[in-house]
Amino acid sequence: MRVLVLSDIHANFTALEAVLASVVTVDAVWCLGDLVGYGPDPNECIDRIRLLPNLTCLMGNHDAAVSGNKNIDKFNEEAEKSIQFTRKVITPQNLAYLKKLPEKVVTQMVTLTHGSPRNPVWEYLVEPFTAMMNFAYFNTQLAFVGHSHLPISFTIDPGGEKVYRVIIEGNQELKITSRAILNPGSIGQPRDHDPRASFGIFDPEESTWNIHRVEYDIEAVQKRIMSAGLPERQSQRLIDGW
Ligand code: ZN
Repeated sequence: MRVLVLSDIHANFTALEAVLASVVTVDAVWCLGDLVGYGPDPNECIDRIRLLPNLTCLMGNHDAAVSGNKNIDKFNEEAEKSIQFTRKVITPQNLAYLKKLPEKVVTQMVTLTHGSPRNPVWEYLVEPFTAMMNFAYFNTQLAFVGHSHLPISFTIDPGGEKVYRVIIEGNQELKITSRAILNPGSIGQPRDHDPRASFGIFDPEESTWNIHRVEYDIEAVQKRIMSAGLPERQSQRLIDGW
């Protein structure tokens, strides 16, 4: 079984298309939230994601901010601008879709959230200490999260005393041998100074986790960001991947 794990698409349809074109057949798709926010193509991204086979899609903080009316004060001014833009252009069907996304999905095998198992929509898992606390908040062997836009993995030793953090560079395979929290990185706005779209392929039978990076036409997205009247910084950052 092969599962495509996506996160933080952030309304970047060109990056999403490049990723989907690069992936050979998968059995399921897990999308860890933030379909919208920052980028110019919220409807195109939601329409495309909804068509994917065996899809499980989670709610991200930007999805929550667009489809609800709470917590928008937690965003900085520029993120807030893109939330307002998204609210203006999103179709009623796509808004209803975002509203219904679950905050957490737990199967026999995995726990899926956007932020963290403890605080599913909002908490960032970047530091080993925070990850350590979160291992107590799920019972499955593995948890998958997004939100930090970093292809980062946390593993915990069998005694539960030490957490190891790896930020995965480029295309790499990890063999999963313990409990772990895995992040596929971001499709639409990578922040590890590698501008290529980032995603993961999880194979439960082989116990492998593969991070893949894919180039896409960044300039085309920058043009659409500017003509949508979105903040210039959102266009600049795509080039350098931060
Ligand atoms: Zn995000």
